[in-house]
Amino acid sequence: MQLLYNATPVQEIRHKLVESAGVSLFIKREDLNHPLVTGNKWWKLKHNLLQAQLEQKPTLLTFGGAFSNHIYATAAATHELGLNSIGIIRGEETTPLNPTLTFATAQGMQLHYVSREDYRRKNDPIFLEELTRRFGNSFIVPEGGSNALAVKGCEEFAKSLPADVDTICLPVGTGGTIAGIINGSPAEKRILGFSSLKGGNFLYDDVKQWLNNKEAANWHIETRYHFGGYAKHTPELISFMQEFAETTRVVLDIVYTAKMMFGLFDLIKQQHFPKGSRILAIHTGGLQGNPVYL
Ligand SMILES: *Cc1c(COP(=O)(O)O)cnc(C)c1O
Repeated sequence: MQLLYNATPVQEIRHKLVESAGVSLFIKREDLNHPLVTGNKWWKLKHNLLQAQLEQKPTLLTFGGAFSNHIYATAAATHELGLNSIGIIRGEETTPLNPTLTFATAQGMQLHYVSREDYRRKNDPIFLEELTRRFGNSFIVPEGGSNALAVKGCEEFAKSLPADVDTICLPVGTGGTIAGIINGSPAEKRILGFSSLKGGNFLYDDVKQWLNNKEAANWHIETRYHFGGYAKHTPELISFMQEFAETTRVVLDIVYTAKMMFGLFDLIKQQHFPKGSRILAIHTGGLQGNPVYL
């Protein structure tokens, strides 16, 4: 069984800044691909869910912070497919549950809180062994959903993108999505990621481990537009999101896509892109988190 998928449009962004720079900007509305499992999370989960079903694992076990888009998407996806899910959540339980965890619980996800120290062991085989003993026969998906099966899904997504653009932009968290986009895109395209976390230079090695062609040089990650760090924001970012929504009717999420679009607009303003460039930005979804921050 597979998740529902709605075909998504590519929309042109008309904005005076874009027009005066002489470039064209489009947005792939992947935020619209599913009512609950949105954006890149749909593609990252696709082959993980298929593999769990193939291995006849009744339960998917994964990791995330209390506001995680991945936890939200996994809870909805497993519910849709009739699988059980367990969310290993970083930190103490706080009640009442926040909207993300309230939703996850309503979808049937069983939450298990671990201390920050234990959470750091999330990829340690001994810790995973302990979790398996405790929660039974589970298919384990790492934090943020990033593994080889996730990269494979994003590679398929890349093949669905329009050919008549020269640069593809997307936000970066763990790097699984951009790795798939690099793998699945023709070598002549430029792939430009925007790190949503501070000090994102380590992402280069993380991305490289998943690349089919380790020598690929057609990609770059901008690390300047993190606004203080993961899930941090400033009044400037919020007013940018508001202006963007008013002029384009496209709502961005504050953790990822708003930082990408802010950075992209800044680069366009600085004439980073030659006139005539055709730029595609990917809306990776994740709007569930906005009410927490705004
Ligand atoms: C998870 C997420 C990302 C980051 O994806 P990675 O594969 O971890 O780099 C980007 N945008 C949104 C909306 C997300 O939820």
